Amino acid sequence: MRIFDPHIHMTSRTTDDYERMYAAGVRALVEPAFWLGQPRTGVESFLDYFDALVGWEQFRAAQFGIRHHCTLALNPKEANDPRCRPVLTELPRYLDSDGVVAIGEIGYDSMTTAEDEVFAEQLQLAVEYDLPALVHSPHRDKLAGTRRSLDVVRESGIDPGRVVIDHLNEVTVRVVADAGAWMGFSIYPDTKMDPDRMVAILKEFGTDRILVNSAADWGRSDPLTTLRTGEAMLAAGFSTAEVEQVLWSNPVTFYGEQRLILDPLPGFEAGAAGTFEGNSVLRGGVPS
Ligand SMILES: [Zn+2]
Repeated sequence: MRIFDPHIHMTSRTTDDYERMYAAGVRALVEPAFWLGQPRTGVESFLDYFDALVGWEQFRAAQFGIRHHCTLALNPKEANDPRCRPVLTELPRYLDSDGVVAIGEIGYDSMTTAEDEVFAEQLQLAVEYDLPALVHSPHRDKLAGTRRSLDVVRESGIDPGRVVIDHLNEVTVRVVADAGAWMGFSIYPDTKMDPDRMVAILKEFGTDRILVNSAADWGRSDPLTTLRTGEAMLAAGFSTAEVEQVLWSNPVTFYGEQRLILDPLPGFEAGAAGTFEGNSVLRGGVPS
């Protein structure tokens, strides 16, 4: 099974995860910029984080045979902090960097006026830079938040076919399907969507415009829930071609082949070979 995880926060994961993911068939992924779990206090913290997403993390993934891409944005939660708002003026200079494939995660957290403004402004950036947009649906008041997100998408003029609304479930999928946007699902080990619920949605909605991700991060999560979903699809009678569509071709189509780097990696030696700006994955030491 060939897997492209379209939403996973590898910065929060270990090299053991990279090894397990490679063994499971993961060959490419997208890491959206997001909230770190505690507030950043200024723009420079974002810039160092963005630099790591287009630099060190790409290198680290490659050490384990996986192509790393990212999406960049000021996330919805920190859109509310005036100290972080100037990130929006710095963002454009990153958008043409190698490996940047979309604007995201954007959208709503608490649905404030500041979030409205930052969401709309970043959708305009997506239009201007001809990038797709990854929109996170809020954890609280999910259906209202999803509807309101779709309104903002409509008002922005962006083609809904270039937008994914993520973290959907049985309650929110229909409005997104009807709006013509992509439907993103995060499969978690013990809350929200699980592989069997995902299979039920695939049976009802089909395999087009659907993205399945692990959204693994610093919280309870599992980078292999994509594989588990593929297995559950096969067990439920989906063909290998349908599994390949959901777990590989759909993310490639959504993010767009022109920005992705998908050619197979040349021979690599997991965790040992090479350096990035003089540092290796051996805790900064240089491999001998
Ligand atoms: Zn995320």
